[in-house]
Amino acid sequence: MSAPRATIALVSGLLALAGCASQRPPTLSHLSSHPGPAWLELGSSREGRPLRALNLGTGGRRVAVIAGIHGTEQEGLRHVPEMIELLATLPATIRLYEDVNPDGTAAARRSTANGVDPNRNWPAENFTPKSTHGPRPLSEPGVGLVYRDLLRFDPDLVVVLHSTRRGPFVNFDGPADGFAERFAVAAGRPWSTQPSMGYPTPGSLGSWFGLDRGRPILTVEFLRGAPAVETGPALLRGLRAVIQDGPLEPAPTRDEVFYVR
Ligand SMILES: [Zn+2]
Repeated sequence: MSAPRATIALVSGLLALAGCASQRPPTLSHLSSHPGPAWLELGSSREGRPLRALNLGTGGRRVAVIAGIHGTEQEGLRHVPEMIELLATLPATIRLYEDVNPDGTAAARRSTANGVDPNRNWPAENFTPKSTHGPRPLSEPGVGLVYRDLLRFDPDLVVVLHSTRRGPFVNFDGPADGFAERFAVAAGRPWSTQPSMGYPTPGSLGSWFGLDRGRPILTVEFLRGAPAVETGPALLRGLRAVIQDGPLEPAPTRDEVFYVR
């Protein structure tokens, strides 16, 4: 092909591309709504379900958020899409872990497929071998995968979502009382802080990260079975408050909570 012909072909090719682009502009919202978030697969559970994590935001505090760990406590998991939307906008480096125990979630069972409580299987000094704790720390694939990934990510703060009939409150370990207070105040009444669960939790994530490593961790306990219209706004307000410094907005009244969304 002669040089002028090559130029004409190139120009017409560019014009065709420009025409295509003008019909469907690649806006940010277009890109984010189509391919979906880029989940990383850390590995698989015992029954072959993926253990997934997602990076969101840059700079600032390094925060790990774990949406689910006990399969009977799925109040946080249902808010993963809204959390992604919020966390992507905050000035922090976030690693969102979807679920430490996807086999338990699929079966609506607290334990892993092996009958082990995934919040008693961490390599804390107080780990106690037992059939429901595992023969050794990290015997459960999901716990091992998230543990190794947390070591690499090296968070300044961990937030893990649970639920209990005694909720809602924020339990904490390590130097986390200020974070717990901010979360509870922002979440609004009837949220409170509770330094202790009231029973021993050997081998828990809080024992390993908070007590042994001396780093802040919040164990967020929703009221078991509370409707999403209550848990969602409380969670998003609480997360925003602990991830981003600065004054807190006034907590909503109970009536306002019910009319959000
Ligand atoms: Zn739990």
